[in-house]
Amino acid sequence: MTISPHPGTVRDPPTGAIAIEKAPLERYVAPDKPSLIGLSRAALGEALGGVGVPPAQARMRVQQLWHWLYFRGAQAFDEMTNVSKDLRATLERHFTLARPEVVAEQVSVDGTRKWLLRLPSEHPGERPHEVECVYIPEADRGTLCLSSQVGCTLNCSFCHTGTQRLVRNLVPGEIVGQIMVARDRLGDWPGAERAHGGGLPAQGDRFISNIVMMGMGEPLYNFEAVRDALAIAADGEGLSISKRRITLSTSGVVPMIARAGAEIGAMLAVSLHAVEDELRNELVPLNRKYPIADLLAACRNYPGLSNARRITFEYVMLKGVNDSLKHAKALVRLLKGIPAKVNLIPFNPWPGTRYECSDWEQIEKFSEVVFAAGYASPVRTPRGRDILAACGQLKSASEKLSARERLALRAMAMTD
Ligand code: SAH
Ligand code: SF4
Repeated sequence: MTISPHPGTVRDPPTGAIAIEKAPLERYVAPDKPSLIGLSRAALGEALGGVGVPPAQARMRVQQLWHWLYFRGAQAFDEMTNVSKDLRATLERHFTLARPEVVAEQVSVDGTRKWLLRLPSEHPGERPHEVECVYIPEADRGTLCLSSQVGCTLNCSFCHTGTQRLVRNLVPGEIVGQIMVARDRLGDWPGAERAHGGGLPAQGDRFISNIVMMGMGEPLYNFEAVRDALAIAADGEGLSISKRRITLSTSGVVPMIARAGAEIGAMLAVSLHAVEDELRNELVPLNRKYPIADLLAACRNYPGLSNARRITFEYVMLKGVNDSLKHAKALVRLLKGIPAKVNLIPFNPWPGTRYECSDWEQIEKFSEVVFAAGYASPVRTPRGRDILAACGQLKSASEKLSARERLALRAMAMTD
């Protein structure tokens, strides 16, 4: 079955097929006074050396700053009471503790929160870059969905992010900055006034317990920045979100999967969405470069896989496209031997898309086949009329989160 690409999709002129990638990337231009957020300990040491902190003190100062930045969430150098006044003034002159600028915040009755963040553009006066960060609270956890790029160079035909032309890699400070903004807004720092309202997790002493790299962008196309940002997120003396609670979602950048396992060590989620190459070529054009067999081979070799550490296979439910029971049966055959979970994501429609979300009954039938084969395949019963949502495409909608969006978000967040 051929699905015409949506308007705005970049095409390869000779064949008319959807292009695998678009280029080029915009660049990040650092502000004159850079933020310390996102620097590794080593980079922080260098930054301190650069403003005259003697090498003999550097280690201790890095420890102190790390604690203020990532454990306490300090927003001003003046809060750093165990740092000398002189050094505070020096730091103030050269650096900031700036996070990405929040241009909009939406809070839903069920506690879901969405922040629209503005990031600097390459050329002054140009339209600023924007990404979204979404917080999805549940009774026993709070999941933060982070973006890795402004837009995405890939062109998955059902994904709204893929239609955006402007693409820029986020720098580590902008990825870590999303966590900082969320914790600021939730009052999720020691001693801070905690947010209240419906839906916030009642268990545990932290609002943000999990991270999913499922917002805008392909994280494995921005490997170093994502790796460095997640190392900061997982640091036990700072943000302290264990790697077991961080999930990286990829559309299938096969050559980077082994490196992701070795150097990032997060839980892996793979956007499979189809069980045959022909259909996956259409839905996820990157499949033309890295077909299903290669992708699954890379998954089988992902380090540390076990029944307790499974790969999540994401499968967006597209009506009449990939949602038949034949597809469900083929899916379980395909995953045989891989410690796997299946995440059925109700398709979240956007203006101009050719796809529709599968009927709820069909999603349930599909899920039963997957479940009967021994795979957890959580799908939430829809509250209200219908289902839906996905982090990757929330940016477009300026209106409040709909019940459908919230549901799809939850489906995506259920990666445990
Ligand atoms: N680029 C990465 C991560 C971001 S997208 C990836 O593709 O995996 C996160 C998930 O949302 C992916 O599984 C993606 O396929 C899915 N997704 C994108 N658009 C969607 C939509 N409109 N409805 C439902 N899921 C969508
Ligand atoms: Fe990019 Fe992921 Fe959207 Fe595909 S689904 S276009 S890889 S963000």
